[in-house]
Amino acid sequence: MNAKLQPVIGAALPAHDLSVSFEFFPPKTEAMQAQLWDCIQRLEPLAPAFVSVTYGAGGSTRERTHETVARIRQETRLEPAAHLTCVAASRDEVDAVARAYWESGVRHIVALRGDPPEAGTRYAPHPEGYAFALDLVQGLRRVADFEISVAAYPEGHPEAPSLEADIDTLKRKIDAGATRAITQFFFDVDAYRRFMDRVAAANITVPIVPGILPVVGFATAKRFAGACGASVPAWMDELFDGLDNDPETRKLIAAALAVEQCRLLMADGVRDFHFYTLNRPDLVQAICHALGVRPQAAHGSHGA
Ligand SMILES: Cc1cc2nc3c(=O)[nH]c(=O)nc-3n(C[C@H](O)[C@H](O)[C@H](O)COP(=O)(O)OP(=O)(O)OC[C@H]3O[C@@H](n4cnc5c(N)ncnc54)[C@H](O)[C@@H]3O)c2cc1C
Repeated sequence: MNAKLQPVIGAALPAHDLSVSFEFFPPKTEAMQAQLWDCIQRLEPLAPAFVSVTYGAGGSTRERTHETVARIRQETRLEPAAHLTCVAASRDEVDAVARAYWESGVRHIVALRGDPPEAGTRYAPHPEGYAFALDLVQGLRRVADFEISVAAYPEGHPEAPSLEADIDTLKRKIDAGATRAITQFFFDVDAYRRFMDRVAAANITVPIVPGILPVVGFATAKRFAGACGASVPAWMDELFDGLDNDPETRKLIAAALAVEQCRLLMADGVRDFHFYTLNRPDLVQAICHALGVRPQAAHGSHGA
């Protein structure tokens, strides 16, 4: 038996020192809006450290991010973190968005370069925009005293010439004022461990919070992974084999897989987890429960 697994199995769950955060995406339709708010209401009692809302490239999707962040702030006790990207906007426009967030009480930005609006095209900075996430972090620092999270890639960003170059980028984002990195999702825990060794060697000391993607649909998860450079170990094909038309069993397997992943990371000392919820509460709720994260006392809203 792998000795590394031993302390994990049956270990007491020190949930009181676990911190979770949840990512949502802004809804496009009324039905999706209802789904998101059901998700938020179901996950709010778990008292996440923050919840983040992703940001798209088009004007209407951006408005939906702003509206979702504002509503979370007004109607819940949750601390919203607004994702913000460099794509298709001048520095002045991005600064104005950041300023509006600050003025409305939003104190946490997830600062990203972003991807081009059309999949498959190459990223090109806006002529008057922030070129990379590093430039955005520097710009945000000038706007206000935000808490800033940035992205990290345990298996490397797809466009990075090497993992070294990528870690150098991460280090520069941290040195510019980011206080946390959230990782791209990964399934290979060893890849995260190797990455963390390199992060430590680069003297990066801020939390590098693992991003956990519960597998809602295996084909979709594989497609996401292909697009963002995350590997899908062969054993996962076996694990999900035959479950395409069996959502119930698939959900149980997905929960068990994510719990195992988190417990392995906990055995390494990880205490912070960021969950990509895909606006679906069930899996995240079950995974948090298994990790010992339980509902906290009733929450009011910021405005209450
Ligand atoms: C937690 C998380 C949340 C995300 N949320 C969103 C979201 O809400 N909306 C969205 O559109 N996308 C989102 N993304 C995806 C992200 O925008 C893409 O992965 C994007 O391609 C890179 O963003 P970044 O912030 O990591 O970029 P950067 O840190 O700027 O790095 C991008 C690439 O450029 C390279 N690079 C950096 N600086 C330089 C330089 N000066 N010269 C040359 N190369 C350089 C880096 O090595 C890397 O390969 C998210 C990703 C993660 C992990």
